[in-house]
Amino acid sequence: MVIEMAKRKACKVCHVMTTKSHCPVCKSTNLSESFSGLVLIFDPEHSMIAKKLNITKDGEYALQVR
Ligand SMILES: [Zn+2]
Repeated sequence: MVIEMAKRKACKVCHVMTTKSHCPVCKSTNLSESFSGLVLIFDPEHSMIAKKLNITKDGEYALQVR
């Protein structure tokens, strides 16, 4: 079985992970392939990490984007 991984990028503005050419959250096209640390946010309103990173939408986020 071959799993094809789409090239993933992190938004430099809000850090969300995407395979698209623009950010699905803030619509920025400022994306980077250089990122480290991934965090999954399920419940941004009650997540300490989401508050710390200013995340308001659930999804997968990079901790650091260069
Ligand atoms: Zn964004």
